[in-house]
Amino acid sequence: MRILVTGGCGFIGSHFVKRLVGAGDKVVVLDKLTYSGNVDNLEGVEHAFVQGDIADPGVVAVAAEGCDAVVNFAAESHVDRSILGAGEFIRTDVLGTHVLLEWARQAEVRLVQVSTDEVYGDVADGASREEDPLRPSSPYSASKAGGDLQVLAYVRTYGLDGLITRGANTYGPFQYPEKLIPLFVTNALDGEALPVYGDGRQRREWLHVEDHCAAIELALREGETGGIYNAGGEERDNLEVTQRILELTGADPNLVRHVEDRPGHDRRYCLDSSRLEALGWRRTRSFEDGIVETVAWYRDRRDWWEPIKSGESRRYYEQQYAARLAG
Ligand code: NAD
Repeated sequence: MRILVTGGCGFIGSHFVKRLVGAGDKVVVLDKLTYSGNVDNLEGVEHAFVQGDIADPGVVAVAAEGCDAVVNFAAESHVDRSILGAGEFIRTDVLGTHVLLEWARQAEVRLVQVSTDEVYGDVADGASREEDPLRPSSPYSASKAGGDLQVLAYVRTYGLDGLITRGANTYGPFQYPEKLIPLFVTNALDGEALPVYGDGRQRREWLHVEDHCAAIELALREGETGGIYNAGGEERDNLEVTQRILELTGADPNLVRHVEDRPGHDRRYCLDSSRLEALGWRRTRSFEDGIVETVAWYRDRRDWWEPIKSGESRRYYEQQYAARLAG
């Protein structure tokens, strides 16, 4: 197949591109190269590249020409940034998804929307199933839910061959150092504070990026039209993850600082993945193996993350954490 991968220079998208190329597919990457997009993530990987915005129909038409399917990773993807300002989230995650849907509808090709467990909101007990109502808590998860709902409406109204995956908190190599694991690993390696929101007892499922990409590939190749597929991970609370990072980096436990919590912070996500498992999906990496390997990768690849941390991410970090850490 010839597949358009939007956001293919980001964290999960770049792993997915490598996976498709390895399977013999032709890949066109459309990426705006925002702060988190990095062409170096695809170094040595054969693909066609178009720099541009998924919310621009002209750009999408050029990039998507001749493609048999679209997999949409392109998004503003960080909750804390969405709280600082949601405009770009609405533009990319809602309007951008609309533009891709319009193209896929006219071209009559499959569109896979890469979504998140966050659209379900808090789950105190049990696990979210695909039919559960969406109760997003942050501007980020609300904008992703907006994308999901459009996909389902296009399937119903126009007969679009669309489907959705909803993955858990993903971690692994090449993740921009703003989310919990890469931020804390790189801070720990540098002897900097680890700012834990609130009591740190928020629970998440952690999913290795390769297992997440396997889930998306399976949905692309074998999922049914209109299907929604959860892909969960192993549940841990943030303090447990932080503790393991301290052990693996050998950093001083006194680096942990409890700071003012994120507004609207969901306490727990948990996914029922049985639908995807019925298609044959199984996680291949335990959290323990995955975190050991990920810490080792960040230890070895300062050349990748040091330029990021001294540039854009430093400005964001100051805005997000300086007052919290001083308080
Ligand atoms: P990321 O921020 O690393 O990558 C996003 C990519 O999209 C970047 O390359 C960026 O340049 C590109 N992009 C942003 N706006 C664009 C636009 N308007 N047009 C074209 N390209 C644009 O994010 P990620 O963590 O790799 O997440 C990828 C997708 O997976 C997102 O849709 C996200 O919602 C979803 N997801 C992420 C996680 C997670 O834990 N990281 C979990 C579940 C789902």
